[in-house]
Amino acid sequence: MKPTHIEHLGIAVSSLEATMPFFEALTGAPCYSIEVVEDQKVKTAFFKVGEVKIELLEPTSPESTIAKFIEKNGGRGGVHHVAFNVENVEEALKEAEERGWQLIDKAPRKGAEHLMIAFLHPKSTCGVLTELCQQPK
Ligand code: ZN
Repeated sequence: MKPTHIEHLGIAVSSLEATMPFFEALTGAPCYSIEVVEDQKVKTAFFKVGEVKIELLEPTSPESTIAKFIEKNGGRGGVHHVAFNVENVEEALKEAEERGWQLIDKAPRKGAEHLMIAFLHPKSTCGVLTELCQQPK
């Protein structure tokens, strides 16, 4: 698997509008991209800290897993997932399956920023929702 780096940290927030000024102040740079990811029912906002990105995730529907995550956390957001960059997400997913890790995505799908992504279940990853992602070619 051997990821090349942490691609981003996913942080759940109930409102992008309310939290973006903090992250702009913290990172010293404005958000460089806002994107709605329909199939995940989220609106994302991206910040850069060196090579690592911060992905803020705001639910666009009460059905969103992000909405449920926030609800479970007493209405507060928090770190939702860690995304590892791999050369080939399909191979990484196959390796994870061979190791007996529980997959959320059996096949890679399109995420924000045109990445190909797949999630591993926190039951298999020490409680940390883990995303594998591959840069667009
Ligand atoms: Zn992510």
